[in-house]
Amino acid sequence: MSEQTTSKLYAIVHCKCPHCRRGDIFTGSMYGWNIQHTKEICGHCAQRIEIEPGYFYAAMYVSYALNVAQIVITAILTYYLSGESESPMLYIGVIFSVIFLLAPFNYRYSRVILLHWLSPKVKYNPDYDK
Ligand SMILES: [Zn+2]
Repeated sequence: MSEQTTSKLYAIVHCKCPHCRRGDIFTGSMYGWNIQHTKEICGHCAQRIEIEPGYFYAAMYVSYALNVAQIVITAILTYYLSGESESPMLYIGVIFSVIFLLAPFNYRYSRVILLHWLSPKVKYNPDYDK
């Protein structure tokens, strides 16, 4: 019996469905001209991605945590790379630029983290992972 299962880490990094770890959660690419959407239903196993109406409001809290972590890291790096501590406009400019550039990343991974780690209703089922 050869079992080729998909690891949880792979599924998270590649934004795969938490139930089968095969189907894509999003349409389009993270950075591109097409607008990315979250699928309603997994194309591989028919798991509902948006488990209930308004489900992804909770992803705002994950996104908020990601943003705070990114802002703190950016501020620390800005301080060490520039040696500047008297110029609030430098920090505001750098932080806004980084947050703007990471917005598509945060959109995706806040939902992926919510689905894979914070949703006890959705469980991995290896029967669909083929
Ligand atoms: Zn699926």
